Amino acid sequence: MTKMLIDAGKSSRGWSRIGNFAKCPQLFSYLYRLGDRPVEEGGCPSLAPPITALAKGSLGHTLQAHLHAIWGAAQPQGVVVDETHYTDPSVFMEPEDAAAAWCDKYGSSELLPQMLKVFHAYLAKFPEPPGDVIAVEAPVTAVLGKLRDQFGLWVGEEKGGEWRSLDGACIEVTPLCMPDHAEHGRPITLTRRIDLVTRDKSGRYFVWDHKHQAAVNAKSSASAYAIDGGFAAFRIMGKQLYGDAFGGLTLNLISSTQPGHVAREQVPSTPHRDAHFAQWLWWAEHQIAQLDLTTDPWEWPKAQNELSCYGRYGACAGLDLCSLGPRA
Ligand code: SF4
Repeated sequence: MTKMLIDAGKSSRGWSRIGNFAKCPQLFSYLYRLGDRPVEEGGCPSLAPPITALAKGSLGHTLQAHLHAIWGAAQPQGVVVDETHYTDPSVFMEPEDAAAAWCDKYGSSELLPQMLKVFHAYLAKFPEPPGDVIAVEAPVTAVLGKLRDQFGLWVGEEKGGEWRSLDGACIEVTPLCMPDHAEHGRPITLTRRIDLVTRDKSGRYFVWDHKHQAAVNAKSSASAYAIDGGFAAFRIMGKQLYGDAFGGLTLNLISSTQPGHVAREQVPSTPHRDAHFAQWLWWAEHQIAQLDLTTDPWEWPKAQNELSCYGRYGACAGLDLCSLGPRA
């Protein structure tokens, strides 16, 4: 039997798109407008993050996904992977085999020995499942609209042109309103792929996010991720998925350079921001659409802030493009 390689990739309309716009509209334009166009037709070169950082994260996620899927499928409740429920752990590749298969498919096999060392050191530290493993790499879609007269970002599903919430109620969608724009009238959605959902002994559900980083600093990472919009979305979705039984968000921090440096940290809640996150998302999508209609993509608003343009990881990939324009 061919064993399964779990897709631990990004979701289709995830937070990074809007997060990049919030950081700098011009950066969004390089990534999602000019980057889609050939350079000879006025586009810009790809500003994708360094391939090594991406590959380490993907390999790490693949290892974690298989570990938890195998654990969950062997537990009495079974596990949902992607959108399917499994009760047989033998359908999944072993984590090490899955990481090797990932490299066969996408390359970066030179990173495999190091990431396996990191994984085995993680397992030595956390050899048991962190509670009942309920879901792994679970896609969630939410849409902006009114549910029972309340505007918000609602987890739901579209069927035959109608959006329904988790309990089957009708969501009155608030679509993009920008006549002449290609996406005018389209529902505004946000998708997330939840790395892991667990349930503790008292029945509380936790949404986990695995982060592979060079150095693990649990407290400052938790504070930084707490205000990240992707985590607001996780919290909003988690509350709708699990109601009063939702326990919160857990960061699973794993150093990719110092095997064994790992930490699990609860992410502080941000109720003020979460309460108007949906309005903010609506505003951001309309700002993007308006810029599409009115402004040369090389001339979108630029952050022009030393911390945005030259941050923790060095210069923004768009620095030369902002300095010199198309001739860069
Ligand atoms: S260099 Fe600064 S202004 Fe230019 S894209 Fe990057 S963050 Fe935006």
